[in-house]
Amino acid sequence: MTQRDADAAPDATPQIPQRRVLVTEIPGPRSRELSSRRLRAVAQGVSSTVQTYVDAAAGAIVRDVDGNCLIDLGSGIAVTSIGHAAPALIEAVSEQVARFSHTCFMVAPYEGYVAVCEELAELTPGRHEKRSALFNSGAEAVENAVKIARHATGRQAVAVFDHAYHGRTNLTMALTAKNFPYKDRFGPFAPEVYRVPMSYPLRDPKGMTGEQAAARAIDQLSVQVGAENLACVLVEPIQGEGGFVVPAPGFLPTLASWCAEHGIIFVADEIQSGFARTGAWFACDHEGVVPDLVTTAKGIAGGLPLAAVTGRAELMDAVHVGGLGGTYGGNPVSCAGALAAIRTMRELDLPAAARRIEAQVRPRLDSMAKRHSGIAEVRGRGAMLAIELADPDGLRPDASSAQAIARACHAKGVIVLTCGTWGNVIRLLPPLVISGDLLDEGLDVLEQAAVDVLG
Ligand SMILES: *Cc1c(COP(=O)(O)O)cnc(C)c1O
Repeated sequence: MTQRDADAAPDATPQIPQRRVLVTEIPGPRSRELSSRRLRAVAQGVSSTVQTYVDAAAGAIVRDVDGNCLIDLGSGIAVTSIGHAAPALIEAVSEQVARFSHTCFMVAPYEGYVAVCEELAELTPGRHEKRSALFNSGAEAVENAVKIARHATGRQAVAVFDHAYHGRTNLTMALTAKNFPYKDRFGPFAPEVYRVPMSYPLRDPKGMTGEQAAARAIDQLSVQVGAENLACVLVEPIQGEGGFVVPAPGFLPTLASWCAEHGIIFVADEIQSGFARTGAWFACDHEGVVPDLVTTAKGIAGGLPLAAVTGRAELMDAVHVGGLGGTYGGNPVSCAGALAAIRTMRELDLPAAARRIEAQVRPRLDSMAKRHSGIAEVRGRGAMLAIELADPDGLRPDASSAQAIARACHAKGVIVLTCGTWGNVIRLLPPLVISGDLLDEGLDVLEQAAVDVLG
């Protein structure tokens, strides 16, 4: 906390005008000072996208310690969908932390946990009877989804896809596709994980349908693993870290019905794509796919750490009493944050806001792609949109241009993130409450950065 904030009334909420303001170069002197302190205290394995240190944030603006105000088109990786410092979140979390901050739900339970599970039952795909269990991080939710699927089926094998990202714990490293930086020299990894091809329209054979891409994966699983050995198929309905890969229509429904036929649990990892981000409450909703289990985290609680596994009551309740849990899982402050975030998403109709963002952003990305042959594809859904940088003929990934464009945006006060198996995708994940003007200004900067880098 800065001295300025410490002097303010304790309940003062940061009021930051929703404008990009650059008062120093980025990073400025105070950020550079913090960077050198950091070098002596923080493990270098933990990296940061931008080198500017945050002082406060509100709406879609992040103010740094030098007074620069940056446009946030990353939302802390799809977390602050309701915007920074959302008033409902501040109020609910402050009230809860003053009432009690922890009892451990496994020791002495409380209403907030139950209410979050009720909301999850209401909002996740499907009208069947559901149960939820709450955790701290996305990776922990994915680990627990696999535990539940194995327990409920008595089977061990887990199927995952090329380009998948499911976390950084030991089991989730095994589930994640990309070696560097996530897995390199961190093995050995958990066994009984089988990887099959994803539907990746840009890089699949021309004209391959979603059904055909699913058949390709299903054939490999049938031959190499055996349907009867599979506990679950785990898939991101739109891949996040892997490059915002949107499978061709038909891929997810075909996989889901094959799973149902063979008693395999279909698990949708909606940690990045969920909670209004793609223009529906969940990305599975776009094709009417109803997963057996859904993992959620990121956008669920407006920035407080919370994650969940939600699924069919008979699967979730198959686990013995005491088989699921953790000290902090479903922390009361995080639950208060989630209830406020979900209320805000409903009140402001943030799924519709995500669709409006798509209507504004996609034409601009399309026109960039028309101008620059190095932009191989514009893809995504709702407020989860990306451009893939690649050589126009061979589709050879162009990570250096993607990184250069991102760095140019950062220097001009716009936070954008990259992703993709080859690091050659620029992704946009703005807060869903961003104004049209601010979004346009951020896109102006991105467009100019692309011209500077690609010519
Ligand atoms: C971020 C992410 C995870 C891991 O979540 P953490 O909270 O970082 O552990 C898992 N799956 C997907 C799809 C994600 O985007």
